[in-house]
Amino acid sequence: MPSVRVSVFGGVRVLARQTWGKAVVAAVLVLAAAESRGAGVERKTFGTMATGETVELFTLRNGKGVTATIIGWGGIVVSFTAPDRNGQLADIVLGYDTLDPYLKPNPYFGALVGRYGNRIAKGEFSLDGQVYHLPKNNGENTLHGGNKGFGQKLWSIREVAGKNGQALELGYTSADGEEGFPGTLQVRVTYTLTEANELRIDYEATTDKPTVVNLTNHSYFNLAGPAGGDILGHVLRVDADRFTPVGKGLIPTGELQSVAGTPFDFRTPTAIGARIDAKDSQLELGGGYDHNFVLNGAAGTLRLVARVSEPRSGRVLEVLTTEPGVQLYTGNFLDGATVGKGGQAYKRRTAFCLETQHFPDSPNQPSFPSTVLRPGSTFRSTTVYRVSTEP
Ligand code: BGC
Repeated sequence: MPSVRVSVFGGVRVLARQTWGKAVVAAVLVLAAAESRGAGVERKTFGTMATGETVELFTLRNGKGVTATIIGWGGIVVSFTAPDRNGQLADIVLGYDTLDPYLKPNPYFGALVGRYGNRIAKGEFSLDGQVYHLPKNNGENTLHGGNKGFGQKLWSIREVAGKNGQALELGYTSADGEEGFPGTLQVRVTYTLTEANELRIDYEATTDKPTVVNLTNHSYFNLAGPAGGDILGHVLRVDADRFTPVGKGLIPTGELQSVAGTPFDFRTPTAIGARIDAKDSQLELGGGYDHNFVLNGAAGTLRLVARVSEPRSGRVLEVLTTEPGVQLYTGNFLDGATVGKGGQAYKRRTAFCLETQHFPDSPNQPSFPSTVLRPGSTFRSTTVYRVSTEP
């Protein structure tokens, strides 16, 4: 009997060793496969600023070969690649090949926008009875944080252990009074590239005085790739029953207007170009779409709010956000004067932006969701840009 017991236990032990060994071999193979496709984070010098500071380009790569490159200057997404329906990767965002043009004023290509993304009317707002004056850098209004918003600042940037992929953490401290805004604002943004081909952006901010905050990313997309031409054939769905109509200078009137029966109804997939030149006073004011949509569903919950597909390549971009709004901007002000990657002149409507946000001019619109941040509270917001394909 004892000999049998020994042999049984011995057999179990051998079996366990083999199973464990197989698991280790399998895990090593999975890692090796990911490695061979280059999953990980790489860094290299992108350029040097006039101050002598070096700006590094970080490449996040997932196991499927999708990449996103990001720099600390402006927290800019320099490139984001996505496969077409044949698996062919292409860069789907506009931008530049080198640092220098990013250092100069530009259309906010890929930039993190703050302290207040979008417009504040007449460059002023009041908070707790005090009036604050901001630089007017867009006619008589303030746009995207003033003369030197967060997209024109050097952020700290480091690789961190992402919960769900390769991740970078960026940090910036905006001084009390910077561009006229009250309070020292500590901002942290985490970019994560997941195995589900998502570029996830998590924003966090705290302040030492009451202030207003509206953070977004200003990537310009063309799902047909770098020489994709105009985006009028891209098919868009936006889950919004209402939008915020604007007056002159693209400042919201305060009304939430139903999209029903207007060119702003994207509740069923519609080509961006189908109605863009319709005789419509809102489209005329924007020179096309340059409007905030009031997203359906509960703000604060990460939900799918928009989907864009490009019929020729089969590429699809889905946008998920916790924000209450999204600005659809169809590159109406691009005029071919800006020359970007590969010497491409970026012409009118060759890209679209879906800037997740609180509504424009909220600090002056008491009925809009509040953008006020007070000491002791933390601003949190998440947006996901997910790429996939359709037949
Ligand atoms: C604005 C546009 C502006 C563009 C680039 C968008 O968020 O709504 O009016 O031209 O950013 O600055």
